[in-house]
Amino acid sequence: MALDEPYPDLNELLATIGEAGLRLSSIQASEGGAGNISLYIGWSLEVRRRFPLAEELELPQSVPALAGKLVIVTGSGRRLRDIHTDPVANLAVVAIAADGKTARLYTSPRRLFTRITSEFNSHLAVHNDQAARTGTNFQALIHAQPPHLVYLSHIPAYRDQDLLNQRLLCWEPETIVQLPEGVGVLPFILPGSPALMEANVTQLRQHRLVLWSKHGVMARSEFSATRAADLIEYVETSARYEYMDLVNGSRAEGLTQEELRAVVQAFHVSTTLI
Ligand SMILES: [Zn+2]
Repeated sequence: MALDEPYPDLNELLATIGEAGLRLSSIQASEGGAGNISLYIGWSLEVRRRFPLAEELELPQSVPALAGKLVIVTGSGRRLRDIHTDPVANLAVVAIAADGKTARLYTSPRRLFTRITSEFNSHLAVHNDQAARTGTNFQALIHAQPPHLVYLSHIPAYRDQDLLNQRLLCWEPETIVQLPEGVGVLPFILPGSPALMEANVTQLRQHRLVLWSKHGVMARSEFSATRAADLIEYVETSARYEYMDLVNGSRAEGLTQEELRAVVQAFHVSTTLI
């Protein structure tokens, strides 16, 4: 998958990050400064008019597949709901050097943060892995903290990936259509750690949304930040149904396997989950 020309311009890309941030906030998946968003841009884009300040940035790891490319990323502690009001004050552009080992950080004089997100290592590693494996020229990544889904991950049985997917898929026909590969599940791993970075990269090869148990999710899209936000919204909606049913004594029938099979057939969904 890759975006075709004409490519979105910088203002459009910044606007989609702002829109995604607003929507995550509207589903309560980004309290305070929680959550972060990044875009990998594989075509050349002039960013210095909007982000004129330049400094060296030490990369957490070498990223050969991103050599010469750009990553737009949220500043540490910035509120996702505020990005749309002033994108350049809340975002930075990381320009990876041709060696894939060093980078320059471009920011605005209005910038409201000192460092980029502490989850940047996870963002960068997934962008590098996907660019190397699929050759994509674009990817949006979002880390957010949708409360109903995270709540389920506090119940040990729901950290079983098969069980979690079975329960999430049974509430709305859309879920299997939008997420035919289901949700990948990671155990609790220390936020920002190399262990989380590595496990997250591996899970995002098979899934477009990965649950970081007792913490949040990361979602990816080859199309836009708003599509990545959609995935989080679909999954959080399913988790909210599941939570409602738990609270209500598990009285709901849910979609049956036959009903789900009919959806899969009608919409030609390629999945191994049903
Ligand atoms: Zn987090």
